Amino acid sequence: MKTLTGTGVSEGLALGRIVWYGKSAPDGAALTDFDSARKIAAEEFEKRAAGCGSPEMAALYESYLLMLEDSDLEDGVRKKTSAGADPAAAVRETGEELAAMLLALEDEYMRARAEDVRSVSRRLSDIMCGKTFAITDFDAPIILAASDLTPADTVGLDAGSIAGVLLAGGSANGHTAILAQLMGIPAVIGLGNSLGPGLDGLSCAVDGKTGAVTLEPDSAFEASFRAEMKMAGLRKDALKQFASRPAETSRGQRIKVMCNIGSAADAEAAAGSGCDGIGLFRTEFLYLDPEGLPGEEKQFEAYKKTLQLMEGKEVIIRTCDIGSDKKADHLQLPAEENPALGLRGIRLSLAREEMFLTQLRALLRASVYGRLSVMFPMITSLDEFKRAKALWKTAMDRLSRENVPFDAGVPLGAMIETPAAAIISGELAGEADFFSIGTNDLTQYTLAADRQSPDVAALFDPGHPAVKKLIEMTARAAAERGIPVGICGNSAADPELLEFYINAGIGELSVSPGRALSLKRDICSL
Ligand code: PEP
Ligand code: MG
Repeated sequence: MKTLTGTGVSEGLALGRIVWYGKSAPDGAALTDFDSARKIAAEEFEKRAAGCGSPEMAALYESYLLMLEDSDLEDGVRKKTSAGADPAAAVRETGEELAAMLLALEDEYMRARAEDVRSVSRRLSDIMCGKTFAITDFDAPIILAASDLTPADTVGLDAGSIAGVLLAGGSANGHTAILAQLMGIPAVIGLGNSLGPGLDGLSCAVDGKTGAVTLEPDSAFEASFRAEMKMAGLRKDALKQFASRPAETSRGQRIKVMCNIGSAADAEAAAGSGCDGIGLFRTEFLYLDPEGLPGEEKQFEAYKKTLQLMEGKEVIIRTCDIGSDKKADHLQLPAEENPALGLRGIRLSLAREEMFLTQLRALLRASVYGRLSVMFPMITSLDEFKRAKALWKTAMDRLSRENVPFDAGVPLGAMIETPAAAIISGELAGEADFFSIGTNDLTQYTLAADRQSPDVAALFDPGHPAVKKLIEMTARAAAERGIPVGICGNSAADPELLEFYINAGIGELSVSPGRALSLKRDICSL
């Protein structure tokens, strides 16, 4: 028995066997040959086609199977490798070349296949570099361990098959930790070199609150750990009484407790959590799917399902916030020196208007299925917000011309997550129907402390007086215009900031579904 200690970033207890998630060789060099990789990929696609439960997705995987046999792909790879190229690089490059050829065609259908070719060639080169399983392939609950995971690695991660997550690196405020919280999976990060492939297959007990990871627990430890798990279950049951109660302080201030989600699947957990609605749907996770950019239909289905699941409760969907730590390979964004200060959020949406309009159309079409609000991330100026609103209007005009029904009165909100937005919140309040404060980024940008970096984690303090002043300023601006203001960053669940938020005039707090009831309890006991 041995104990490792890291930082607990997603509360909960888990017992299981470690599966080490090996990433591609760092230099991207092939470990497996092209023909073996094609066989592995074919098995993977066949398994996915059979298990995906949707005829459209099954057809997609079947088209991937055909692409594996494509003679242009094979010829391109063989030519490059016989000229001395590394086989994995040859596959990647050939895939890019074929995608570029498709993109140059007039035919829209063929152009849309470019992403599919890219997905197939990337998967092949990943397999060749040693990434032999997708993260979603496990049948039994396991403890997933890795040096680090990007948000893109975790797309499609199934809460039912992952009992816990352990990372050698990682950061408490990054999006991988946020995803683990959203899915209610206990997670410990920052375990350093003590976590490595040698631990694959070992049994372990994970405490996502204290950050303690016990390897090969003996029977006495395991028995007491199981007893603790049972107690935690009982405490959770005791919280259920708050599900049907409004969150109200003893002075009668009613606070809306909302849930953050990252997919329509998370909405099921939210719907059963006793919350007042969805305060933040992070739609960018749809864009990180290795299968390529989500089209209008795929997005429409996700938004519609979420609205239907929430049965008339408010659902705030945020438009895509790609960039910074959320990289979507298929967007082929230029490398940036400082991605957190680069082309992210609304900046990217405004730079790729057609991609943005696809999302806005999907949102508008879904709006007739429930109570939708939409908000824009990373706003820094009034002009950005107005341009986003103008494109919303363009999407409405196009749908009207096509006689497609939508709700013309969807409230449009601004995320306040940059100091600039907080400082001009008075002007923004004249344009926006509501504000939602993203304290993760607001803290990062106000304190110049990278939310991703463990080295400055101590400086990353959402309770810093500068952050608090910006929140007060925003809440005042909202009150003067009579628009609602909420908080959807991680600190919305921080009991130590709760009283400050309520006194500042925050009317809505949005947290991961697993935290909604304890937040209601904390509000009721204020
Ligand atoms: C935030 O910045 O607080 C926020 C809610 O958005 P995200 O964490 O997705 O950047
Ligand atoms: Mg943010």
